[in-house]
Amino acid sequence: MTRGARFTAAAVAALLLAAPVAAPATERLRVSWHPKRPHPGDVAWVHVAGAGEAAAIEGSLGPRSLTFFPYAGGQAAVVGIDLETKPGALPWRLAVLESGLEPHSLGGRLTVHERAFAVQRLTLPPGMVDPDPETERRAMAEGERLATLYRTITPARLWRGGFVRPVAGREPATGFGARRVINGQPRSPHSGADYAAPRGTPVVAVNSGRVALVGDFFFPGRLVALDHGLGVYTLYFHLDSVAVVDGEMVERGQVLGTVGSTGRATGPHLHFGAVVGTARVDPAALLKLDLRE
Ligand SMILES: [Zn+2]
Repeated sequence: MTRGARFTAAAVAALLLAAPVAAPATERLRVSWHPKRPHPGDVAWVHVAGAGEAAAIEGSLGPRSLTFFPYAGGQAAVVGIDLETKPGALPWRLAVLESGLEPHSLGGRLTVHERAFAVQRLTLPPGMVDPDPETERRAMAEGERLATLYRTITPARLWRGGFVRPVAGREPATGFGARRVINGQPRSPHSGADYAAPRGTPVVAVNSGRVALVGDFFFPGRLVALDHGLGVYTLYFHLDSVAVVDGEMVERGQVLGTVGSTGRATGPHLHFGAVVGTARVDPAALLKLDLRE
């Protein structure tokens, strides 16, 4: 039986009256995930080709919702694979709404592969590890303030092109995802990466964005958080000095402050963090993000 034989005469007449005839959405839409084999800590992105820039696309990967932006003739969304994601298949779903076309939904699975993280043993003064109740309440409130910030999704993309290092040099940052044992006690994993640098070294914005928070918190010390839009945040902790103010728009490479050892730090270094849609991701993955525009 040919494909056409399944249509009734009335359906064929209706198709002929509806001009131009759009191809079925399943044939138009091409969904590609990058990287194809993600690991915990990766910044993944999905490209939907064949949907117009005016199409409204909603979607999710596992528990995380996707915010789309125009990209390469179609639309794309970035999504963080949190550093504590268990290896295995994550379901994804997309719904494409385009005026004049039938709403269309599609889905599949993206498999997260295992990544081994180092174990880091640290010895710190007890007062910095087990703070008194008042300090602990303060640290909890500060952590909640950051968590609230990460849940705030600016719907526009404020970054463009590639991301640059926050400090000059070639030495890679270390310690992302390390399972930390402090004074013999297991603690939450290290959610950023550390750059060793002398006090006073300039710290720059890794891409354009808006200063979302300037603070002086118990664990992070003097800090700057940048909002790059679409749920992408970068964090700069333990600063000696801060050169920007809340709400300021910054350009890629603009000086935010200088390296220091404020907060819980064993010596001068930059703790650099990256969050995508509340997922704690490897800053190195953000710096390698292969979106070309
Ligand atoms: Zn750190």
